[in-house]
Formats: sequence, structure tokens, C-alpha cells
Amino acid sequence: SNSTEVVNGTEKYDLPKIKFTKLFINGEFVDSVSGKCFETRDPRTGEVIAVVAEGDKEDVDLAVKAARNAFDHGTWPRMSGYERGRIMSKYADLIEEHLEELAMIDSLDGGKLLAMGKAVDIPGGVHMLRYNAGAADKIHGETLKLAGEFQGYTLKEPVGVVGHILPWNFPTAMFFLKVSPALAAGCTMVVKPAEQTPLSALFYAHLAKKAGIPDGVLNVVNGFGPTAGAAITSHMDVDKVSFTGSSEVGRLVMEAAARSNLKKVSLELGGKTPLIIFDDADLDMAVNLAHNAAFFNKGEICVAASRVYVHEKIYDEFLKKSVEMAKSRVVGDPFDPKVHQGPQIDKEQFEKVLRYIEIGKKEGATLVTGGSPCSDKGYYIEPTIFTDVKEDMVIAQEEIFGPVKCVMKFKTIDEAIEKANATYYGLSAGIITKDLNVANRVSRSIRAGTIWVNCFFVFDPSCPFGGYKMSGFGKDQGIDGLEKYLQIKSVITPIYSSPW
Ligand code: NAD
Repeated sequence: SNSTEVVNGTEKYDLPKIKFTKLFINGEFVDSVSGKCFETRDPRTGEVIAVVAEGDKEDVDLAVKAARNAFDHGTWPRMSGYERGRIMSKYADLIEEHLEELAMIDSLDGGKLLAMGKAVDIPGGVHMLRYNAGAADKIHGETLKLAGEFQGYTLKEPVGVVGHILPWNFPTAMFFLKVSPALAAGCTMVVKPAEQTPLSALFYAHLAKKAGIPDGVLNVVNGFGPTAGAAITSHMDVDKVSFTGSSEVGRLVMEAAARSNLKKVSLELGGKTPLIIFDDADLDMAVNLAHNAAFFNKGEICVAASRVYVHEKIYDEFLKKSVEMAKSRVVGDPFDPKVHQGPQIDKEQFEKVLRYIEIGKKEGATLVTGGSPCSDKGYYIEPTIFTDVKEDMVIAQEEIFGPVKCVMKFKTIDEAIEKANATYYGLSAGIITKDLNVANRVSRSIRAGTIWVNCFFVFDPSCPFGGYKMSGFGKDQGIDGLEKYLQIKSVITPIYSSPW
């Protein structure tokens, strides 16, 4: 019954040799204190790619100690922004020199399309670094005339030791989304990549050292959430934690921060992005946009347009074309240039997505295409579309994080706005219309951090990104993303002579 065939990349390519598997602490690759390791697996086959050092509390302690020392006594927070920016630019150059190899590592570890890695993920990380390198010497405070004979000025100082906790869906982009502004601000840091994708971060640690980032400034501790991750969030010497992941774990991060040293917290969490398509839309453009907005990166993206609201006048035609397009999507080996969609990240996510598809069917939604695994090995799932979905169904409320799209109907603008807002999430939304008034009104009425009008997935290091509601708080990207790693100090002096 499968309309989707898994293409097995028959083309020959040399897979990268995995060079870095240890923890990176204080400028050195080291084994974990316990000596423990864990396996990272290839989602195309479920086979082991590499065995990686597994960090736990003791390793986080060592990494935080190194970062603390580099912050309290080292050169990085004290050098000029210009100098930090210069080193960061060199870091960006080194990454570009290894672009192909890095893209391959992320494809192997995360089942991501190699072509996308080369065109989007790795260049995107480089762009984040260069944007923040350029901002590093533009960090400054204000001068204030106070009441009476006093003046004040503000200093923007790095927040200190930062813990970055990353998800697995964009190992490179997430790494640089967090590391670049923290470096520009003059912070030192401990990065904990997701346990599913531990590899590229270690390569980035190696290149950081090569670029001249001093030892202790950037540490990478791989490991699991409840152990290594929790050790960061509850550490008394970590000044800030920047987290991207699920809303469920986001809550644990805040709790741990509250219970320990009230470290500052920023959270980029899940989403259930609505895409609203009005009846004046160019139909083929809308079908194509909605297709990619839901299925890009196998639906493993926090802003995936998993809820598509289509005006009733164009609904039938839209659905027909969308199903055709979903059926023609090529699922298979992400190294194969003909492939549009690789495997889900791991067995757990694969099973979770299939469970949601079963729930959707049981809830009474209609499965119009897809819904099944499409290979006997690896974690491939057919692009899936549901109709007859009601706002209170589980599949319309919870983040599935897989290639599953719900297509719904609406009649009026008010109805579309109300339905789009009917989740606890508020990460992003999309609108397709030629009517500027409609676009303006809907943009202002949706409670979400990013609105894409007649486009989707447009990210830029200059454009703040982050959620409303339970999608989190604290922006990544843009100058707001940099400010997150700074704190303001006010200095007050008499203008003439001290009154005391
Ligand atoms: P997750 O929350 O399970 O894990 C994220 C990270 O948190 C991992 O590194 C994990 O090891 C760590 N972690 C787990 N338990 C922890 C704990 N108790 N304490 C500290 N750290 C812990 O999420 P995931 O499955 O890796 O990623 C998918 C989720 O991430 C989705 O919900 C997705 O929407 C979200 N996401 C959001 C954005 C965004 O920018 N808003 C971007 C990408 C992914």
C-alpha cells in the first residue's frame, strides 16, 4: 500500500572518519571520569557509528571549573571585542574549510540531507559566527544625566559561565545559535549536545582551539539529559543556562535553576505552527510551501507547519494537490541527491511518530496519505496527511516532530485566527495571501514569536527568533540574542564634587 519508496543510496561516497569522540574540557580531549561511553547510531540502519565518552556530574564539574577559571582569570572576557571578533572570524573560516566533512558528520549522525547540510546547516552556523563576530566590538552602554548633580553610565558585561543544552535536530545550527553570541559577549561556556548527535560539536571544539579561542572558554560535555544536562542546570557556578528542546524538559530546566543559584534561563521550546492559506493564494505556490513547511528535515523542526488551515473555497483542490505532492516525495538515504526526506533520528522518535499517527486515526481524523514506515531497516516514515482534524485532538495539540501534517478548513479570518491561536504553543506561524490588509491583521493577531508571510523557514542571524506562550522566552539571533549573554551594570558618580 506504500506509495513512497525508500531509495537506498547506491551511489558511492566515502563516509567521514570520526576523529573526535572524547569530552573537550579546558582545551583538551579527555575521557570521562567514570570511563563510561555511549553509542551514537546511524538512523539509516540503526547501526553504531561511533562510541563517545559519556559525561556525568563529575565531568560537568570539571568543565564548569575550567570555564569559571577562564571567565574569572582568563583573557577572553577581558580582551577587546575587536580581538574576540577577529578570532571568531578565523573560527568561521576554519569551519568553511571543513564544510563537506562537517555536513557529512551531521548527515550520518542525524539522518539529515547532505545537500541541505552543505547549503544550509553548516553555512548557517558560519553566518551566525560572523554576525556575532561583527557585533563583538559594538557592545556598549549608555550615559545618563541623573537628577541632582549626578551622572550615570551603564556597562554591558558578559553574564559569566553559560551552560548550553542542545537538541538533536540541527546539531550545527543549534551549536552556533548559542555559542556565537555567548563568545561575542565574552562569556565562557559548557555545551551539552543532544545524546543522539554528539559528533559535530566535538569537531567544532577542535576548530575553536585551532582558531585561538583560549582553553576553558568553550567546553563540550556529551552525555544524557538527566545526568550531564541536569548537572549543568543545577550547578551553583553556572550563571546562565540557554536551553533548546522540549517544553517538558524546559520546565525541568527552570525548576533546577530556581532550586540552585537562580541562574538566568532562556528557553527555546516546542511548537505547533499554524499555516493559514487564504483563498486568493496562488494555489501551486501554497501547496508547495505547505508541503515543505511540514516535511522539511523530516518534520523534525520546531517550526514545522503541522497545522495547515485552508480557506474552504480552495480546500478541495489544495488537498488533492497536497496529497499528490506528498506521494511523490522521495524518502531514502540522505546522502543520495535524489532524496527529499531522510530517516527519523532514532528508534524512539520513529515509534513516537507512529504512535501519534495511530492516535490520530483513533481520534477520528482521516488519514489521507502516508501513515506507515517505509523501509524494513532504518527509521523512515511516509509523508503523512490527516484531514477532519478538530482543534482539541491530540494530533492538533501536541508536537509530533515528524512528517505529519493536519489539513483543516476555515471560512472567515476571525475563525482562522482563533483556531491558529488555539494551542499552548506560540513559536511561529505562516500566512499566505495577496491581501496586505489580511496579512497585517493576521500577523498582529497571532500570538507567536515569528510570522512568515508568503514565505517560510526564512532564518537570518540578524532576525530575533523565539517563542511566545509555552514555546519559551529569550530570543536567539539578532542583537536580542546577544543581549541575553550580557548583563547591565550601572555606575553613578557626582558630576562636580562629592556631596559627602
Ligand atoms: P529534549 O527536551 O528531550 O532534549 C533537549 C536536550 O535537553 C538534550 O540535550 C537532552 O539531553 C537534554 N535534557 C533532557 N533531559 C534533561 C534534564 N532533565 N535536564 C537537563 N537537560 C536535559 O528535546 P529533543 O527531543 O532533543 O528535541 C526536540 C524538541 O526540541 C522538540 O520539542 C522541538 O520543538 C524542540 N526544539 C525547539 C527549537 C526552538 O528553537 N524552539 C529548536 C529545535 C528543537
